[in-house]
Amino acid sequence: MAVLDLPTLVIHGGAGVAHGDLTPEEETQARRALEQALRTGYAKLQGGGSSVEAVTAAITVLEDAPQFNAGRGAVFTHDGRNELDAALMDGASGKAGAAAGLHRVKNPILLARAIMERSRHVMMIGDGAEQFAREQGITLVDPAYFRTEKRWQQLQKALREERAAQASNQPLVLPGKAYFGTVGALALDVRGNLAAGTSTGGMTNKRYGRVGDAPIIGAGTWAEAGCAVSGTGWGEFYIRAAAAHEICARVRLAGEPLPKAADEVINHIIPKAGGDGGAIALGADGVMAFPFNTPGMYRGWIGPDGVPHVAIYREDPLPLPGQTP
Ligand code: ASP
Repeated sequence: MAVLDLPTLVIHGGAGVAHGDLTPEEETQARRALEQALRTGYAKLQGGGSSVEAVTAAITVLEDAPQFNAGRGAVFTHDGRNELDAALMDGASGKAGAAAGLHRVKNPILLARAIMERSRHVMMIGDGAEQFAREQGITLVDPAYFRTEKRWQQLQKALREERAAQASNQPLVLPGKAYFGTVGALALDVRGNLAAGTSTGGMTNKRYGRVGDAPIIGAGTWAEAGCAVSGTGWGEFYIRAAAAHEICARVRLAGEPLPKAADEVINHIIPKAGGDGGAIALGADGVMAFPFNTPGMYRGWIGPDGVPHVAIYREDPLPLPGQTP
C-alpha cells in the first residue's frame, strides 16, 4: 500500500527499552518528549522547511531531553565520561556530515549538519571536531551538562557485572550489550526530499574510543532519493551489515518493498549474526517501517493531520498512515 503523505516525519528514541525499565512518570516524560520532537520537526516541514531542517530540529529536542541516550542524558563510558556521536544525510544531494567522540558539543546533530553544509569533509572526531564546532559558533558546554544520575547508576551496574564476570572467568563482552535510547529522525519534505539523522551516547561502559554505527554513514544513518533509514541497537552488528544502506539498496536494486527490506535486515540478518535492535525507515512514497526485535523501541510519526503518534513497547498500537481514521 503506497501512501503519499507529504510532508512526513518519523522518529525513534532507541531500541532496548523493556517493561519495568521506566517509572510511570518517566514513561509519560518520554512520550511527551517524542511528541514534542514530532511537533517541532513537523512545524519546519509545514513552513516549507527542508527535510534536513526537520530532522535537525526533531533530533535537537530529543538530545535536550534527558530521557534519551543522546545529548543530555547520554550513557557513560568505562572511564565515566559522556562521549557523543551523530550523523546527518541529505537524500536529495547525497551529502552527509558526521561527528564522533564529542565531549562538549551540546547538540551533536547541529555539528553533523555544519560538517555537511560548511566543510569539505564528511566525518570529524574528538578535539578536531570540537575545534570546528567552536569556529562555527556551535554551543559548547561543560562536560558535566550531559550527566544524569540514572545513566551514572547504569554505568555502576555495568562495572559491577563486568567485575563479577572477571572474577568467575566468564568471557568479557566489550563494550557490553547495554544500549538504550539512541535517537533518530527521518523526514520527507513538501518537495519530496528525504533526510536521515541519528544521535547517540553509544553504549554504556564503552572504552578505547569505541564508535558505534550511529555516526557511520551507511551503518546507522543513510538517506538517498527514495529511502531513508536511522538505526538503533548493538552498533557493531549494524556496522558489519552496513545496515541502513543495505535496507535502501534492497529497495533500490532488488525492488523489495521498504517494510520487507527493513524487516529482513533488522529482524533476520542482524539477529542471525548475533546482534539485535531496531530501525526506522521511510520511503519517498511515504511508506514507513518500524522493525525491532527488542521488547520496545521508542518510536513515532506525524503526517498531514498534524497529530503525533507515538509508541514505546511492542504491543503499543501505532497506526500507520493508511490505517488512521
Ligand atoms: N547503536 C548505538 C551504538 O551502538 C546504540 C543504540 O542504538 O542505543 O552506539
